Amino acid sequence: MGNLKNKLAQFMYGRYGTDQLYNALIVVYFVLIVANAFISSAIIRILMSAVLIWTIFRALSRNVYKRRMENEKFMKIWKPVKGSGSLMLRRIKEIKTHRFRKCPHCKKVLRLPRTRGKHIVKCPCCNKEFELQILL
Ligand SMILES: [Zn+2]
Repeated sequence: MGNLKNKLAQFMYGRYGTDQLYNALIVVYFVLIVANAFISSAIIRILMSAVLIWTIFRALSRNVYKRRMENEKFMKIWKPVKGSGSLMLRRIKEIKTHRFRKCPHCKKVLRLPRTRGKHIVKCPCCNKEFELQILL
């Protein structure tokens, strides 16, 4: 077993391996598997093969620089998506106690205690005041 591990390590030497894009592709692959179970279509199967081939190709690639650039491009798109997703989750989690509002001056999202009515809020970031109303 140790021998096999060594051989694998030797094989992977100088190759790119895994990164965030790799993980994302694996997730996409599993989503496609699930989708294929419901709507069995040739397009999904072709997509599945393409994703799998691309994932393996990237992991085994010796062109580390190019793969890193691909990952960087992916992260540029993914980071804002992930950020807004986690904010959405937080909004849902704290729906009973807090409200999230954007400061009209600096566009920063503020977490405010849920108190009904009109309020004057002082933004802790830009120190400017603004009025807002919490209805629910
Ligand atoms: Zn502000």
